[in-house]
Amino acid sequence: MTVTIYTHPRFHQHDTGPGHPESPARLTAVMEALAAPRFVLLPRREAVHALRSQIARVHTRALIDTVLDPYAPEWRPLDPDTWMSPHSAEAALLAAGAVVGAVDAALDDPRERAFCAVRPPGHHATPDAAMGFCLFNNVAVGAAHALARGLDRVAIVDFDVHHGNGTQDIFWSDPRVMYASSHQDALYPGTGLRDETGAGNIANAPLVAGSGSAAFRAAWEIRLLPALDAFEPQLVLVSAGFDAHRLDPLADLNLDAEDYAWLTARLVALAERHAEGRIVSSLEGGYSLQALRESSAVHVAALAGI
Ligand SMILES: [Zn+2]
Repeated sequence: MTVTIYTHPRFHQHDTGPGHPESPARLTAVMEALAAPRFVLLPRREAVHALRSQIARVHTRALIDTVLDPYAPEWRPLDPDTWMSPHSAEAALLAAGAVVGAVDAALDDPRERAFCAVRPPGHHATPDAAMGFCLFNNVAVGAAHALARGLDRVAIVDFDVHHGNGTQDIFWSDPRVMYASSHQDALYPGTGLRDETGAGNIANAPLVAGSGSAAFRAAWEIRLLPALDAFEPQLVLVSAGFDAHRLDPLADLNLDAEDYAWLTARLVALAERHAEGRIVSSLEGGYSLQALRESSAVHVAALAGI
């Protein structure tokens, strides 16, 4: 069993503009943390582009054309928070491609776990809209790829502090994908209420601001993990945002890095019970560089069992 780190130099060149929280420095912080001696044996792989046909499984032609438009201005907003720069389209293709590559590897050999150190993030991107710093929904593209390769049940687990409205929208009426999310109640984008259940395949656990570790762990232990167990996924995909950490400047859930280690170990056990161990994680949000360093390190260590 190993954890491959998928990344690409282009991810550092997706430029969101001065002062933007979703900065290239985030990825630098993650890769610095993963350069520690205990991770030296983990393989690194350069992401390759997702194919347009793979992205089109979850996004409209209009959105794909907008993101990839070679004639559009090089610097442009797709929504007030979501900017494109000269290398953003390629970064978006590579971020989705990282997850597709990791899913392929896991389906070929369940011992091939992965952490995709990517940006832009993905979980806010809906079928037809880029939003919330996200261009293409990387994890959704990966889930759709797993279905296209013949899986019947794929779980997407999302512990980013924001609700993954895009992922929920994409799989709202598709019972082959279960989406389970904990997030801060009433934070951007405002979705993720408990009664948003799709075709019975959506499980949301909103947490009030200031909740902290105990409430977070209880939400997973009592509500989300049992629902995932009942679903019996053949692959576990993780939307790994680290912005519920107490140092994060955009939210107030007050988690510690240890909470990410705890949940990741539970998700590995879930994958081992139902999915022959197949688990692929992809970076979403997280806006404190210190929190990103600590949290990505414990997350990858727990994925690797080290
Ligand atoms: Zn977030």
